[in-house]
Parts: sequence; C-alpha cells; structure tokens
Amino acid sequence: MTGKPDRVDAVIIGAGASGAAAAKVLTERGLRVVALEKGPWRTKESFGGDELANVNRYNLWPDPILNPRTSRTSPEVAAEVDPFCPVPQMVGGGTVHWQGWLPRFTPNDFRLRTVAGDLAGTTLADWPITYEELEPYYDAVEWAFGVSGQAGANHFEGPRRRGYPCPPMPQSRYAEKFHDGCAKLGWNSFPTPQAALSQPFNGRPATVVSAFAQQHGDPTGTRSSALNVFIPDAVATGRYELRPESYVRELVLDDRGRIKAAVYEDAAGVMFEQEADVFLLACGAVETARLMLMSTSARFPGGLANGNDLVGRNVTFHEYSASVATFDDPIYAWAGGGYVSASSFQFYEHDASRGFVSGGHIAAAGVGIPLPINWGLPGKPTWGVEAKQVDRDYFNHSMAVAMVLHDMPQHDNRVDLDDTVVDAWGLPVARITLIPHENDLAQGRFLVDRCGEILEAAGGKDVTKVYAEKVTGNCSHQHGTARMGDDPDTSVTDRHCRTHEVDNLFIVDGSPFPTATGANPTLTIMANAWRVAEFIVTSKGNR
Ligand SMILES: Cc1cc2nc3c(=O)[nH]c(=O)nc-3n(C[C@H](O)[C@H](O)[C@H](O)COP(=O)(O)OP(=O)(O)OC[C@H]3O[C@@H](n4cnc5c(N)ncnc54)[C@H](O)[C@@H]3O)c2cc1C
Repeated sequence: MTGKPDRVDAVIIGAGASGAAAAKVLTERGLRVVALEKGPWRTKESFGGDELANVNRYNLWPDPILNPRTSRTSPEVAAEVDPFCPVPQMVGGGTVHWQGWLPRFTPNDFRLRTVAGDLAGTTLADWPITYEELEPYYDAVEWAFGVSGQAGANHFEGPRRRGYPCPPMPQSRYAEKFHDGCAKLGWNSFPTPQAALSQPFNGRPATVVSAFAQQHGDPTGTRSSALNVFIPDAVATGRYELRPESYVRELVLDDRGRIKAAVYEDAAGVMFEQEADVFLLACGAVETARLMLMSTSARFPGGLANGNDLVGRNVTFHEYSASVATFDDPIYAWAGGGYVSASSFQFYEHDASRGFVSGGHIAAAGVGIPLPINWGLPGKPTWGVEAKQVDRDYFNHSMAVAMVLHDMPQHDNRVDLDDTVVDAWGLPVARITLIPHENDLAQGRFLVDRCGEILEAAGGKDVTKVYAEKVTGNCSHQHGTARMGDDPDTSVTDRHCRTHEVDNLFIVDGSPFPTATGANPTLTIMANAWRVAEFIVTSKGNR
C-alpha cells in the first residue's frame, strides 16, 4: 500500500542541523513544510549519562548492524563494513550530542584555490560565494540559535557586523592551560564560540554546563541544538509537520524531469509518496549522495542530477588528531568544564613557506572525558592493577590539544553505493573510497607538533603526539559530495545550492562545500541553509 498525504510547498529530507535551519526560515516565511526524518524524535527526558548504552551500544550513534557503511583505501580492494564518519540519525541529527564548537570560516576559506594556487592531485576550487555574502547569515544563525563567544578575540576572523549574543562560557581548566601555553608562545588564542548560552537569552535559560552532554545528549534541554531551538521555532509556526521514523528511499521525477515526490517508508513498513513544489536534501553529505545515487531513472540512470558523474565525488571529512599530556595539577574536566574550550587559528591560514596548503583549527579538550569507560592515554594498559593505577594517576590530570585537519578534495575520493552490502531495509549502503593526499598528512604532522608545543609551554609532561596517518571520519564532519559552482561541467549545484539538472532540488547540508576548510563546519552549514531557504522563498514566484 502507498499513502499519498496532501501536497505541500516544500519537503525537507533530514531534520538535523541544516534541515532544521531551513525549516525555521521556510515556515517563518509562510511556506508549508513536511520534514521526513529517518530516526526517532527523542525528548530531553530520554537522555542521560549512561556511557555503555550511549557510546558502546549505539543508543545514540547509528547501529552498524542496522545502518552499516563500508570503506576502503583504494578502488582495487574490497570495502569493509565500518561505521565511517558516524552522525546520530534522529531528530536533531548530529547536534543531539555534539561538542557545539561554532567558529566561522575565514574569508580566504572561500577562495583557497586563488590564494594557494593549484595543488597536483586535488580538485581545489574557490567557492562561488564569498565570506561577505554569507556574513549576514552567520549573524542570523548566531543570534537565532544562541552562541556564546567573544567577537574580535580570534585575530584571524573576518569582519562581523556585531558581536555574539552571549559572552563566552565560563572557562574550563584545560581552556585555561591552553590560553596559558599560547600566550607563552606568543600565539593568538580565543574562547571557542560555543552552541550554548552563558546567560539567559531569547526567552531561554542559561545552559547547564555539564561534561555529560557531548556523546550523551542534553537532559536539561538548555544547549543550543537543532532539537532545542530551530525545530521548536518551526513547529511554533503551525506550518511544519515533522514525521520521524520516515526513511526516504527515493526521489521520483515527473514528466518534465522535476522532482514529483519523495518515496518513504514509515516505522510500520508502510510506503508513502509525499509531493511538493520543492525538495531540500539535508541528510548529511554521505547520506545525501547515497539517496541521490539510489534515485535512478531513465533520465538519470547514474543517479539523480548526476549527468556529469560528480555526485559523491570530492568528499572530505576532516580528521581529529591530537597531542596529549599530563599535568601535576588536576584538570577536572569531568566536573563540569565539559567541552567548553579554547581555540587558536594561529596556523589556520595558508602560508606557502610551510610547504603545504592551508591549515586548521587547534583547540583544547579533556582526554576521554566524560567517558570514563572509554578513556585512555596512548599506550595505557587496559586491564588489571596497572590499568587502575593509570586511572588514579592520570584520569584527572590529562588533556589534549587537538586539530581539525583540512583535507584536500580529490576526484577519486568518493561516496558511492556498495554493490554487496545492504542495510536493514535492504537498501545498498554508502561505500567510502578514500586515500589521503600527501598534503593532508604533512599538514596533520605540522599541526600536531604545534599542539604539542602548546602543551609543553603550559607545563604539560610526557607529551605524546598522535599523528593522523589516515582519514577515518572520526570528526563526524562531512562535505563536498555535491559541490557548488558556476560551471555545470564541474559542479553539481549552482551558487544557490540548486542542482544544475533538476530545478526544484536543493541541497542544504555540507554536500555543496567545494572545500572542507580547517574549521568545524556546522555554523557554516546552518548559515548556508538559511541563505538557500531565503532564496527559495524569494524566488518562489519564478518557478
Ligand atoms: C559527537 C559529535 C560532535 C560534534 N561536534 C561538532 C562541533 O563541535 N562543531 C561542529 O561544527 N560540528 C560538530 N559535529 C558535526 C555536526 O553534528 C554536523 O556537522 C551536523 O550535524 C551536520 O548537519 P547536517 O544537517 O548536514 O546533518 P545531520 O545533522 O547529520 O542530519 C542529517 C539527518 O538526516 C537524516 N537522514 C539521513 N538520510 C535520510 C533519509 N534517507 N531519509 C530521512 N532522513 C534521513 C539523519 O537521520 C539525520 O538526522 C559533531 C558531531 C558529533 C557526532
């Protein structure tokens, strides 16, 4: 049986960061929107600090038995099942239990090809939009979502029209050490802009500072997340219908080659066809590419809007790697500092004298905290008396300084469909083929060395450097699979993130990002989704 609910103005597939931001704008501007979200709609009462359930038993992460992915390091080898770049699949998406660091990209991020020139083996490209074009939307998201930070503290940030709605969060012990180390080295550092409220704002209470939000969800409902802010905003308009546990399997075309309907299956296994004027993909860059590739037709035998075989290519994931150290005095990260952090963009901008392209965001973090079961230092014994002694000696005394690797886009690094592995619904899973570029590895070594220097300058002992030797998707950041550009031969979407080949299909997650940049992407993902949603509203009469 196939149900046919009433046609609406817009269907958004995915209710994570980008889908929620777009829903807020579209509904507040008068459109009727249906959101189809694969996962459940969890409430704050269902979150808590059960580490075994949340982290080890996939209560909040995608279960690799139900939702596997596969990965490989060469097209010649068989891909293996691997929870590559996992992001929670539920209403709120990745923001349900995230860290919530929200730096802006810098102006040069939008023109790296111009700044750094050609890099052999990569598809480095400028964005078709500039920082200046996105700046009003950065501002809109920071103020609507609720971000705490200190304007001007990051000396490398682009111009901004005003400061943050809230001052920085109270400083954690490891943020204090980070600032101290940077100051001794003469490097700029700043309080990491945080998806949290340091004081009541916009009718919301101040955020309860707890180490048990990242990886565990937020039982207080006070952090800034899609679940706590943009989705309630859209619901309040009365024009937003969010259908959880609605897994979109395919987008089907009408006679004119436009999207007619999203075909989805609900929790009871019933199939539906939801029609609309426009469709927005907000599944995250991996699942968006997968859904496009699964949506084949006579017009698009290789996948939706994929006439040039670019859907899924140029995928980038960042990589999170760190130096770690111990301190004589306690860090107490578990006691409430959580992931309130300190950052530096000192080695973010491109500098040709370093011998590689670009750089990345460096920031402080507690080691393995708030995850006492899963915590560990490199080489830590895992069992017995020795393991217990290491816990006693170091659990309270360790910290990391980590970096976000700006990995380069490459044509052959891609997401496609695995022809041997299916998910629990019988659909082919995403297969990731990825070989890091030498630039990625050189940049990673350089940044991890700088992380170690900060720890040493702050008085850290036994500094251990953990270099990124491959890209494993450990950041849960994903971009590039439907890159935007002005040239339809070299891009999937135009500057408005509308696919070149299907004019009522927009992509609002990280898929259109031509480059990964070296910063956490979600503020930019939401700002861009806001921009695209405004374009959809203002261009409505022209479609
Ligand atoms: C532990 C953790 C910490 C993080 N910390 C940070 C941070 O500090 N700063 C930062 O910038 N980013 C951070 N991130 C990354 C951030 O969560 C993502 O960048 C962000 O959520 C991406 O938004 P999105 O809308 O593209 O996708 P998501 O938020 O992943 O939402 C996509 C949604 O689409 C749904 N979906 C997928 N396929 C389908 C389908 N076929 N049908 C229906 N629904 C579908 C999924 O279930 C999901 O809910 C973190 C992520 C994790 C997991």
